Amino acid sequence: MDVEIITVGTELLLGSTVNTNGPYIGRKLTELGYNVRYHQSVQDHMEDMKNALDLAMGRGDIIIFSGGLGPTKDDATKEAVAEYFHLPLIFDEKTWMEIQERGRRSRYVLTENNKRQAYFIQGSQLLDNPNGSAKGSFLSVEGKYIFLLPGPPNEFEPMVAQVLERLPEPEAPLKVSSLHLTGIGESHAESLLRELDLENDALEIETYASYSEVEVKIMGRGLSPVELEAATAKVSTLLKGYVFSDNSETAAETVVRRLQERGETLSFAESITGGLLSSMITKIPGASSVFHSALVTYSDDQKEELLGVRRETLASKSAVSREVAEEMALGLYQRTGAHYTLSLTGEAGPSTNTQAQVGTVFLALAYQGKLLHVEELHLNGSRETIQLKSAKNGLSLILQYLMEAEHGK
Ligand code: ATP
Ligand code: MG
Repeated sequence: MDVEIITVGTELLLGSTVNTNGPYIGRKLTELGYNVRYHQSVQDHMEDMKNALDLAMGRGDIIIFSGGLGPTKDDATKEAVAEYFHLPLIFDEKTWMEIQERGRRSRYVLTENNKRQAYFIQGSQLLDNPNGSAKGSFLSVEGKYIFLLPGPPNEFEPMVAQVLERLPEPEAPLKVSSLHLTGIGESHAESLLRELDLENDALEIETYASYSEVEVKIMGRGLSPVELEAATAKVSTLLKGYVFSDNSETAAETVVRRLQERGETLSFAESITGGLLSSMITKIPGASSVFHSALVTYSDDQKEELLGVRRETLASKSAVSREVAEEMALGLYQRTGAHYTLSLTGEAGPSTNTQAQVGTVFLALAYQGKLLHVEELHLNGSRETIQLKSAKNGLSLILQYLMEAEHGK
């Protein structure tokens, strides 16, 4: 069952209103197994609406309009659909009575144009709108299921249930599983998946990248749970070493859980991120059993005093350097004794305090006072984005080592 959504409203195209109705109903229908194939947005123009409908008639089974059911002249969705099918608009006495009753209660003056909302396309079924005066309608023409719903989201969203109950069953519900990866780029993950060559008409694999993580979604249509599980297992084996979660567990949650399982602890020396990474970890319930402490050492003096970074290193290499990151992570172990100690130092911009360019970040990770890894990153974006990416990379680095420890490398 192919679905096409047509959102009507000039303000949606001018960008003054964010289109939430399209994604809202798209999500609902997809979850139930309908195939949402197209989404058009058009201005409040009869011709544009008719053109949109014409396109949709050629390729969809279910067509859903949102918007343009109000009382004013620019609300013309019903007129456009009626003209397209050469059907008349019929006055509904009962609806007109209800509009008048609503008007009396709200003390708004009703005018002649309010009557427009009491006209409906011949043969349509009316859909109740508990939150407004614009009723929706359902029309079955030329084998298509056509729905007209009002635009205000507080009216649109509750009416979606009335759409769902009028739809035929989808032939093949969509089943989705997902894997969360770190330590691998999206294009690398994608090329490995392409070699695996699992995709077919019933199975689609998509990758989505966000900061230092990649999500792989395995989507099956008409597959049994066992078949989907088998496909997921194949992907998981292929990407072994990068998969940190096969459910909705986030990177920070996985770090906390794995440290709990191992009975190990964690400390941070945060310069560039100013506590952001600690905040990501402390948001997770149970963090207190694994999170030892964090030192936010912003100035050179404090890096020296609290972490024992040597003055010569700071002077010769500057605070944003591989050497300082290393000394921060090792000094942190001396101070805290936490199993894993991670340091971050860098330039978040917009101006710089050292020779390093904006976006240069060094991360160092040590385990029981032994350096595991030092990483140099060159990030782009605003100050806030660079800080966020640095923190996410920090999480990702710890995760990779926790995963290696688990795989016994
Ligand atoms: P009304 O009776 O209020 O005129 P309507 O059915 O004619 O309702 P519109 O005129 O298209 O709907 O839009 C009414 C309000 O709803 C506007 O504030 C508009 O910005 C908002 N709106 C319309 N379409 C959407 C959409 N797709 N997503 C979010 N908001 C929307
Ligand atoms: Mg309107």
